[in-house]
Amino acid sequence: FAKPSLKQVDSVCPFCGVGCQLRYHVDENDRIAHVEGIAGPANEGRLCVKGRFGFDYAHSPERLTRPLVRRAGVAKDPLAVGRRLTPDELRAQFREASWDEALDLAAAGFQRALQATAARGRASPVAGFGSAKGTNEEAYLFQKLVRSAFGTHNVDHCTRLCHASSVAALMEGLGSAVVTNPLRDVAHADFVLLIGANPAQNHPVGATWIKNAVKRGTRLVLADPRRTELARHAWKHLGFQPGSDVALLNALLHVIVAEGLTDPAYIAAHTRDFELIREHVAAFTPEAMAPVCGIDAATLREVARAYATAKNAMILWGMGVSQHTHGTDNARCLIALALVTGQIGRPGTGLHPLRGQNNVQGASDAGLIPMVLPDYARVGDGAARGKAEALWGLPAGTLGSEPGLTVVEIVDAAHRGEITAMLVQGENPAMSDPDATHAREALAGLRHLVVIDIFLTETATLADVVLPATAWPEKTGSVTNTDRCVQLGRKAVGAPGEARADAWITEQLAQRLGLAWRYGVAPDGSGSADATQGIAAVYEEMRALMPSIRGLSWPRLWREGAVTYPVADEADPGQPVVFTDGFPTADGRGRLVPAALTPPAETPDPQFPLVLITGRQLEHWHTGSMTRRATVLDAIEPGPVVSLHPQTAARLGLRAGAAARVASRRGVITLPVRFDDALPADTAFIPFAYREAAANVLTNPALDPVGKIAELKYCAVDVRPE
Ligand code: SF4
Repeated sequence: FAKPSLKQVDSVCPFCGVGCQLRYHVDENDRIAHVEGIAGPANEGRLCVKGRFGFDYAHSPERLTRPLVRRAGVAKDPLAVGRRLTPDELRAQFREASWDEALDLAAAGFQRALQATAARGRASPVAGFGSAKGTNEEAYLFQKLVRSAFGTHNVDHCTRLCHASSVAALMEGLGSAVVTNPLRDVAHADFVLLIGANPAQNHPVGATWIKNAVKRGTRLVLADPRRTELARHAWKHLGFQPGSDVALLNALLHVIVAEGLTDPAYIAAHTRDFELIREHVAAFTPEAMAPVCGIDAATLREVARAYATAKNAMILWGMGVSQHTHGTDNARCLIALALVTGQIGRPGTGLHPLRGQNNVQGASDAGLIPMVLPDYARVGDGAARGKAEALWGLPAGTLGSEPGLTVVEIVDAAHRGEITAMLVQGENPAMSDPDATHAREALAGLRHLVVIDIFLTETATLADVVLPATAWPEKTGSVTNTDRCVQLGRKAVGAPGEARADAWITEQLAQRLGLAWRYGVAPDGSGSADATQGIAAVYEEMRALMPSIRGLSWPRLWREGAVTYPVADEADPGQPVVFTDGFPTADGRGRLVPAALTPPAETPDPQFPLVLITGRQLEHWHTGSMTRRATVLDAIEPGPVVSLHPQTAARLGLRAGAAARVASRRGVITLPVRFDDALPADTAFIPFAYREAAANVLTNPALDPVGKIAELKYCAVDVRPE
């Protein structure tokens, strides 16, 4: 296992938001031989199965090694997406091209689209999906390219499908969307409410900190319709009805307010609109909410009292909270719980939405969001736009004041023919977007689609130009984990063939689109301590727009490897716990916002009687583009399954391993059955990593009206034997 290696390079895991630091051991053939965990602040040497074994995707024979251009006259077939192309099919659709030809074609297609609409005086028809799998510098350059060259804020990424509703609620309530306390702060908590998250599968090293805390006496309450692994360690498991989060949480708030368990001094000093909450939750008695959420009134009272009276209580949540049409309301309730009890601003307290992808925090910070510039400066803020324009060398007034379209809105606009050209970097909307058939039709209908990626993903099969990029171990750059910790990823191995660094590709496109970018990013993804050139120069420009990392220069990051923002100056060690004395809102107070009880957008009926929950699993990450090409991980979980409670399966006439046909109002997939008695009755769970049975063919694109996140955690399906 631990073969001798010629070279060791320290970096960061490319998968989840925990941000474990690891060491790549590189052999004499410039390949990663094995990986070990090292003492990073988030992992202290620990790694999960993904971090330890999910590395050989970088050496997969399926890596893209030369730019590809769609052959003239070859149609895009959205119905064929999901089937891996044979070499003959690939050659029939695409031809190899030089970098110069491919970049020229990519840029020319965008210019044609922009000229066509400019002639008609219409809004920009171009949009970009950047990536939370890349570095901060790549995300920063991508949003700058879309805003500067395409004249639009139509730029978004997977945060829209992840924590957009949490971000909306936190911005509204606290004036900032960052976590208040690092995950490892559970060690200082007497009580932890973990809701709508399954860290044992999705943040496995994070789960170890929770288990360690429980072992030392922390009371864990797991609130989740599924009795997931951490339920075994929990003081209580609240297996509430899917979609009834607001009923559950408002009942807890009711008990805290009605029984005088609030913190009046904290409320007076640091919040506003308490009266609105007090009046609103009066009707949400545990007795009234018990039939709605499925948790008995006595348990609701017991949990509310335990949270409010704990010396230090922390709330962690995941996409079970955020991926709902009422996701923003769910998060508003969690914020209210912390504010009315004063369980915030100290170690072991606060609010922590567990970020999914390894750099979804950093990509959001860097401005890969349609309504904000870097560091969450609103696009409607004239001073912020002026500062960006000056730094980017754009004439005053270039950047518009209206937010751009979000992920699902962009796909819908493409379907309507209003968006005609797209640049996609490292994202896979043909697999990750809700109602995937609709998304694939939209992507296939684009006049110009350019995809930058390391594999011919399902999205890339619909592209006009495919540009081969570097994988994570092949480049240097910074990433920011769920704890707000900025860490340095270092290039360990060379890229295959003619694959090039994403940031180099973006810079080349920018130059062809008329922008005078001169960072001199290295095409091979390398970086150095010299802050004046290459990827370091990109970081330093980004830092000039981001007060949160003002004190973290590139040389310091190079030296220290990991620093938690906000970091005011070079001597500031960083602040793991924030909002110790108020909030970054206009009046310095946290805002309490009542949350209404609204049902999911689609509920079960006789035609579609089961609830479908989608998500991830331990071995596979998101749409599976990397982990399904990692030998060990794909061997452990080689194919799709639909999980059902054994009694539900028996009622439907399904045995374990039998083929099931799962249908929703949007599509049908077929896949084997797996028994899982952790699931509630009449509920199905399908991971979305499998192209052969893409869960998102079934999911509902209905959006949370505030966060614009789709209801990926709830739709109605029919399951029956195939
Ligand atoms: Fe990687 Fe997350 Fe596993 Fe750590 S917990 S090794 S960051 S996937």
